[in-house]
Amino acid sequence: MELVDLKCPNCSAPLRIGRSATSTVCEYCGSSFSLQAGAASGVAVAAVARAADDTRRQLDGVSRAVDALRQVAKDLEETAGVFRR
Ligand SMILES: [Zn+2]
Repeated sequence: MELVDLKCPNCSAPLRIGRSATSTVCEYCGSSFSLQAGAASGVAVAAVARAADDTRRQLDGVSRAVDALRQVAKDLEETAGVFRR
């Protein structure tokens, strides 16, 4: 059976369902979803788009954290410079 990778819309856990499945239950949070017969690939596209949004948001967070760390490194560098002088 061909499988489609989906993310649970409720808890974002990975769901693996058959492409021809009409319903599935999330094994993590127990949410059940009905899938229109034959539309699983369309659902998968929507799930991938959501996952891409999540990834973009996470990358934004990471890049903000990197900026903050750069600032800390710069401050430490300046502090070290004061002590070297
Ligand atoms: Zn779930």
